[in-house]
Formats: sequence, C-alpha cells, structure tokens
Amino acid sequence: MAREVDVAALAKGVLDGSRTVLARSITLVESHRPDHREAAQQLLMELLPSSGGARRVGISGVPGVGKSTFIEALGTRLTGAGHRVAVLAVDPSSTRTKGSILGDKTRMAALANDANAFVRPSPSAGTLGGVARATRETIVLMEAAGHDVVLVETVGVGQSEVAVAAMVDTFLLLTIARTGDSLQGIKKGILELADVVAVNKADGPHEADARAAARELRGALRLLTPASAAWTPPVLTCSAQTGTGMDEVWTAVQDHRAALEAAGELEPRRAAQQVQWMWAVVRDRLLDRLQSDARVREALPDVERAVRDGELTPTLAAQQLLDRLT
Ligand code: GDP
Repeated sequence: MAREVDVAALAKGVLDGSRTVLARSITLVESHRPDHREAAQQLLMELLPSSGGARRVGISGVPGVGKSTFIEALGTRLTGAGHRVAVLAVDPSSTRTKGSILGDKTRMAALANDANAFVRPSPSAGTLGGVARATRETIVLMEAAGHDVVLVETVGVGQSEVAVAAMVDTFLLLTIARTGDSLQGIKKGILELADVVAVNKADGPHEADARAAARELRGALRLLTPASAAWTPPVLTCSAQTGTGMDEVWTAVQDHRAALEAAGELEPRRAAQQVQWMWAVVRDRLLDRLQSDARVREALPDVERAVRDGELTPTLAAQQLLDRLT
C-alpha cells in the first residue's frame, strides 16, 4: 500500500463493487499502523451512510459441528437466489497469515469462487478487541460494497461469541447431538445469546439423535429468559451435507429479524451496538495507553510482585498503576 492512502479512490472503488479495492480497504482497516488507522477512519466515515443494508447473521459452534460446510451450503443457496453474501470470521486465536486465506478458500471452495460471495478470513492473531473492531469495520465496507447478507463466523470457544452477538442482528448457534448429554460442550452463556439453534448432521444414522438433542435443547432454552419478549428461540435440525432443513433454518433467521423489526427493536438494537462498539474501542485504547506508558511499565514488575506476595491488595495496586497515567 502506498504511503499516502487515497481515501476518495478507495471509497469510490468500494461503492462501485470492485473486489480488489474492497480487499485493499479491508487490509487498511485491519492495519495497526497509525497513518492507516487514520485513513481507515476517514474511509469509514465516507462509507457509513451507505452501510446498514445487510442482514447480519452470526454463526457459532465448536470446531467440528460443521460451520464451514453449513456456511458453504447456505451461502451458495443465497447467491443462487440472487443475494450477495459476505463471509467474515472472528477468531482471535487464529495464526492464519496471508497463506491461510488459501486455507479458507479450500474450506469454502464453492463460495470463494462465487462472483456473488466474498470470503474473508479472520484478521490474523491479535487481541479479541482488535479483531472484533476490524470485523465490525469490515461489515461497514461489505455493506457499502452492496452485500445484502453478512455471515460472521466464530469458533465457539470463549468470549468471541459475545463480541459477535454484539455486531449482528441474529445469532445462530450450530451444535450436534452428542452421546449422553447434548448440553455438554455448550456453555450456558452461549445458549443465552442464541436467537436460533440448529442441531446439524441430522442425516443418516444420526437423525434420531439430532432430534432427541433438539428436544433436550428446547427444554434447556425454556429455562432461560429470552433476550426479546418478541421472540422465542427455536431449535431446529438440519444437515449441511444433504441440505435437509437448511431452508427452515434460514427462514427462522429471517423470521427472527422480522419479529425484531415488527416489535420496533431492530433499530434500537443496532444503535445500542454502535454505542457498545464505541465503548469497546475506548476500553481497548485506554488499556493500550496504560500498557505502553513508560511510567506504568517501570512500576509494573514491583507492583505485580507486591500483589503476588500479598503485600498489596489488587485494588490498591490497580490504583497505583492508574495514578501513574495522567
Ligand atoms: P467446522 O469445524 O465447524 O467448520 O466443521 P466442518 O464444516 O469442517 O465439518 C466438520 C466435519 O463434519 C467434516 O468432516 C464435515 O464433512 C462433516 N459435516 C459437516 N456437516 C455435516 C452434516 O450435515 N452431516 C454430516 N454427516 N457430516 C457433516
């Protein structure tokens, strides 16, 4: 990328739907260089009015439940029906580099080669905050480029689900039947985020197990307070491999958003997400500033040692560190 970023040219290219310019703009948004960060913010300000037009869907599930297979099957159906689909990922543990974009392309080969789809792997390893920020900003770019469906994939381990739920309209949890207890492996907090649950691999000999798992999950969901009074999360079964049940899952995703819209909850939800995003950036920047502050760094080894040895309470120690940042 040239030292001087031509923001106006990038904005025009994105709006014109140029894949090359879109890819370059995402790289800009993912960059940590201060001049890139500044140019990226200018670009986003220009494109913000053209964003917001997509159905934003989070798709989560532990490795092996069939996320890639599901996204490939769903995405291909959607582009076949005339949609333009963007696939993003939030995986802060990812050590993927440029080479692994190829990895993603083989993972979702048909979509990656589909002119109406744009598959982008997770920004390579970083803090969850950093990866989530880049993904949120990439959603703006994808929408400005005319994608009307944005699928954000996340690996179902840890905090990344919470980050993804905070950037989508509908959060779809994929799971599979497990021998014994189907709830095992699903953290309760993640079930609480789900707007739609789909038990995948409901095919061949697994079908009956998948149905039993769905019943069990329905029971578990009844014990939770729904996030919206307008919607009760359904539990469906599907097979990403055979396509059975895929249309029903997509219909449920659409129904969820329609229910939010009818209840007047969609716009406030998106507005609240923007404010949440702002605070996430504030927290990140403050922590960055704290951790790179020379006076803080100088005091850190002693303060940490004092906390470890029980000479200082963690609260007092935190106060001492914060006091150095003025
Ligand atoms: P991910 O780690 O969640 O992305 O899972 P993958 O999409 O890579 O799938 C993991 C394995 O499950 C692969 O071997 C898939 O072929 C298989 N798989 C995915 N979906 C289905 C399905 O609906 N039925 C069956 N039987 N296998 C599936």
